[in-house]
Amino acid sequence: MIGMEVHAQLSTRSKMFCGCTTDYIGAPPNSTVCEVCLGMPGVLPVANARAVEQVVRTALALECEISRHTKFDRKNYFYPDLPKGYQISQYDMPMARSGRLSLGDREIRITRVHLEEDTGRLLHAGDALETASESLVDLNRSGMPLMEIVSEPDLRSAEEARDYAVELRGILRAVGASEADMEKGQLRAEANVSVRPRGSQELGVKTELKNINSFRALYRAVAYEIERQVRELEGGGRVVQETRGWSESEQRTFSQRSKEFAQDYRYFPEPDLPPLELRPDWVAQLRASLPELPGELRGRLAEQYALSKFDVEQLSQESATARLFEQTVAAGAPPKQAANWIIGNAPTLDAQRLAELIGLVVAGTINREQGVRVLEEAQASGRAPGEVVREQGLAQVSDEAQLGLVVEQVIAENPRAAADFRSGKQQALGALLARVKEATGGSANMRLAAQLLRHRLIQ
Ligand SMILES: [Zn+2]
Repeated sequence: MIGMEVHAQLSTRSKMFCGCTTDYIGAPPNSTVCEVCLGMPGVLPVANARAVEQVVRTALALECEISRHTKFDRKNYFYPDLPKGYQISQYDMPMARSGRLSLGDREIRITRVHLEEDTGRLLHAGDALETASESLVDLNRSGMPLMEIVSEPDLRSAEEARDYAVELRGILRAVGASEADMEKGQLRAEANVSVRPRGSQELGVKTELKNINSFRALYRAVAYEIERQVRELEGGGRVVQETRGWSESEQRTFSQRSKEFAQDYRYFPEPDLPPLELRPDWVAQLRASLPELPGELRGRLAEQYALSKFDVEQLSQESATARLFEQTVAAGAPPKQAANWIIGNAPTLDAQRLAELIGLVVAGTINREQGVRVLEEAQASGRAPGEVVREQGLAQVSDEAQLGLVVEQVIAENPRAAADFRSGKQQALGALLARVKEATGGSANMRLAAQLLRHRLIQ
């Protein structure tokens, strides 16, 4: 039983409660900060309207119920990366609840979506230039707008946990709420994992997995933890409720600390921020402005272009890829061919030129391998594919008389393969075709060559 807690940094220009820039990656430590995000006494936070909007848009995309009334709370704890001694978060009145995310025909329930601020970062020995006895704090990240999306424990395998996070990233990017790059820490996934005997209705004791920096790490950490817990229970032991870190170098989880309970944080309403009222007409406007979501895009690609599940998956991973595909088809390329070329070659041509290239292959002017060469040349030189074909004399040999001569020569030079084919060995044709290809420097129209070979061999 796996539940996910995903934090996403929101795409806003300024931080959650102050005017500092959110463009802090690569900035010198403690340079994108002010009195507010440094937690100086007496300063007042002001909520970032754009961040509230991003949370509501994401929650709508996840089919959540949006709260009419919502408020911020203080989550109190001491840690050196938290200068105020509390994090402004949301406790009992989150912005949204009760949503869902579809994974194929499975539906994962979303418990809640709320808005909070990020903490600073500690640099320990090894990360920084300092000695083993020191740690440094960088507060550039302090006060970044952060959205937390919590799911019910509806996921059932490491694959599903990974697929959930990937799908969520797609939704965040589609609505423009977050760039959601895991390696940059813009998307952080924590998994709550428990196991129970098959058929049991009770939830087992869960552990919370942290330090997960990629989708691959998420998959491996969950898979490892499932196995560890099963081994523990089957060996007569028990699972302890705790936070466990994922060690990338050792490929295992390790105990970090025993789990604190919610009451330890002494949550109380943030007195410096007014409660927010999310007006239904404003929410309706945001709902109407939502773009096509990844699930909708997949459904449309499959239906409108009759593509396979594989093609749809590949084309829909990045919205730029899906756009190139649709524009290439609109420019005249057959959908299946356009999908193959885009998936197989990751072209950087614009749709017009890509469609022109595909047209040359479909018409038989050049064969597929020549097409790949033309693509590379067109990309490197910026010239149109048709121009490249003309200049390099790449057009394939489709002239029947010309190719016929080559075929006859190949048959004469390879009597054994010819005899094999005549005696019923179909695969001998492949060897002869390879010779034809060689003899024409790869420019033969292979379909025509195969026809001519069969025709002459069967005579
Ligand atoms: Zn600030």
